[in-house]
Amino acid sequence: MSEIYLDHNATSPVLPEVASCMAEALRELGGNPSSPHQAGARARAALEVARGQVADFLGAQPSEVLFTSGATESNATVIHSAFPTKMGAVAGLERRHVSIGSADHASVMDPVLQLEKEGLQISLLSVDAQGCLSGSEVLASLRPETALCCFLWANNETGVVHPIAGLAQAATQAVTPTSASEPPWIHVDAVQALATQEIDFSRLGVDSLSLSAHKLGGPKGVGALIVKEGRSLTPLIRGGPQERGLRAGTENVTGILGMGMACRITKERRVQRLQEWGALRDLLWELIRAADPTVSLNSNLSTGLCNTLNVGFAELDGRVLVEALDLEGVCVSSGAACSSGSLDPSHVLTAMGRSPAEARSAVRFSLGEGVTQDQIRRLGELLPQIVSRVRASSRNGTGSHG
Ligand code: PMP
Repeated sequence: MSEIYLDHNATSPVLPEVASCMAEALRELGGNPSSPHQAGARARAALEVARGQVADFLGAQPSEVLFTSGATESNATVIHSAFPTKMGAVAGLERRHVSIGSADHASVMDPVLQLEKEGLQISLLSVDAQGCLSGSEVLASLRPETALCCFLWANNETGVVHPIAGLAQAATQAVTPTSASEPPWIHVDAVQALATQEIDFSRLGVDSLSLSAHKLGGPKGVGALIVKEGRSLTPLIRGGPQERGLRAGTENVTGILGMGMACRITKERRVQRLQEWGALRDLLWELIRAADPTVSLNSNLSTGLCNTLNVGFAELDGRVLVEALDLEGVCVSSGAACSSGSLDPSHVLTAMGRSPAEARSAVRFSLGEGVTQDQIRRLGELLPQIVSRVRASSRNGTGSHG
């Protein structure tokens, strides 16, 4: 039986057009983009075309695009720029407060929580049962000492989408900085929103935005940080003068070209995806619910990402169901790939008020390019038997799902 891949929020397999573009780049572009000879100039020119594709996709200027190794690095660069710690202590900084969401991605939460030990003050904003931040809580958290406010555009586990433009506008107007001339830096992690949401950086009202190629059918290990003109970055990686001295290291030419192509394709297909993926996700939910009325929904089908369905299967461990489905050739996940292996229940679902048992019972189905109605129907037929097998084995304590 052919594999059914429904883990596109972990990574979306490389699109064929991207693979061809990268293969050609590997064959044809051997030079270092910083070299002054023709081979270098060809690599540089291709890199700048890709920068233009990324900028065009996001409604940004090419000069605002900084290539990185992915969104983890992009997020880390912003945090590092907002709190540049010379000797590793932020306690002495005049503006040492940050607001982040309690359901944000680990690549924002972990570095911020680390800095808390060095004196950073944090407002960890709560989310409601749907996973949404409250605009009034965001505003109440901001103060003159706030240097950074991070928003997650769309949650990778549940698909909850935040109204970023509105939140950013309110946050910018809320604070009159006393000791510095600039309002707080508003950063948005747009990784999971990229494949389906319309993004116009020029009108969003944020200072920076992170993206990752592998959530778009581009290669893994490459991404970008979009930074508004006028905001200055403190390099995380120092060395050569690449990326205007803001990110040292020879550019990942092949990966960046693949990301440019993935951005181009995503722009062309976005609107069509909303309908197609949304219809497939709704069908999957109908099939799951019809077979098992005890399931619960951790996603919002009307306002959430059209490709994401997070379902709680009462009285079972989502990780065991994921393993059982894997044996049948179905790839799904019980939460973020970045925290798989952890025994803790998802911080996203617990922030939404789910009990540890409810959070552990969750399975995320995330759709993308190549998923067909046939596959969804096949899964709809398979799932009830597998779920009852897993439930039976967890009831009699074997933990085995055979
Ligand atoms: N933010 C979000 C919302 C993500 O889903 C991910 C990837 N799981 C990241 C950041 C990190 O991206 P990368 O894998 O490019 O480092």
